[in-house]
Amino acid sequence: MSEACNSCSAAGTCTTESCPSEPKKTEAQKANHINKVIAVMSGKGGVGKSSVTGMLAVSLTRQGYKVGILDADITGPSIPKIFGVTGKVEVSPAGIIAPKSRDGIKIMSLNLLVAQEDDPVIWRGPIITQIINQFWKDVYWGNLDYLLIDLPPGTGDVPITVLQTFPVDGVVIVSSPQALANMVVRKAIKMVGKYSPPIYGLIENMAYVECPDCKKRIEIFGKPKGEEEAHRSSIPFLGELAIDPELVALSDAGKIEDYQSAAFDLIGLQLDDQIQINHDKKKI
Ligand code: ADP
Repeated sequence: MSEACNSCSAAGTCTTESCPSEPKKTEAQKANHINKVIAVMSGKGGVGKSSVTGMLAVSLTRQGYKVGILDADITGPSIPKIFGVTGKVEVSPAGIIAPKSRDGIKIMSLNLLVAQEDDPVIWRGPIITQIINQFWKDVYWGNLDYLLIDLPPGTGDVPITVLQTFPVDGVVIVSSPQALANMVVRKAIKMVGKYSPPIYGLIENMAYVECPDCKKRIEIFGKPKGEEEAHRSSIPFLGELAIDPELVALSDAGKIEDYQSAAFDLIGLQLDDQIQINHDKKKI
């Protein structure tokens, strides 16, 4: 019993379902079984957060997990596009059904609910917060091992709502050498610290380009700083990714699931290890 129960007339005779101060579960919440909720954050936009979220989902799916992505980047949603998921969303008595990508990744995004995919979202913070909460309460995911939440960049309303009210098990931070240089990533790391879910690790995207002819590594934004930053912030470093035109071409064609990258496979495995390590820590 919590402290609030001491003054309640139903104390001792209640269940979670009948508790007057416990919010009632929606049909979708009763039907969903989600093992781990993972938020993907970045300090600033354009570092490749959505692409990395998409590829993490692909990598975890290749490892045999059932994965979903909640696109919470409400004003700049790109997840349906990179997976080639379009069309009308269906509604069942259990809630709004998250459509599946070609390889079975379940996806929900505001872009799947607006009339035209290029319709802008011109809403203020409180409405956007309501939409995010409704996504949590009314989307039917079924059984998932991992639900990845693609957060908008920065430390605004949506990241606050998600970290405050969703049962987030852990956070992945995505950055790039330029963003690491001006320290915006540290703001995101500090913000997570205020809400206490573990940070599974930092991924440094766009760390270098590989010359297609001589295979030389060219660090166009200067020396990658991800590992050093992760060490300074006492969080794991999950790995670095090159700038790869193939990723852009496949994402633009809605075929991110065809992208092959040994570096990404490794990052997916590292993430899975970190999830397991934190799960075991929680049990102790
Ligand atoms: P964010 O979610 O951080 O705003 P996106 O994932 O939408 O960033 O990526 C922004 C642009 O950069 C997209 O056109 C995407 O295809 C491209 N991009 C992301 N990561 C890479 C990469 N490793 N190599 C090449 N292009 C990339």
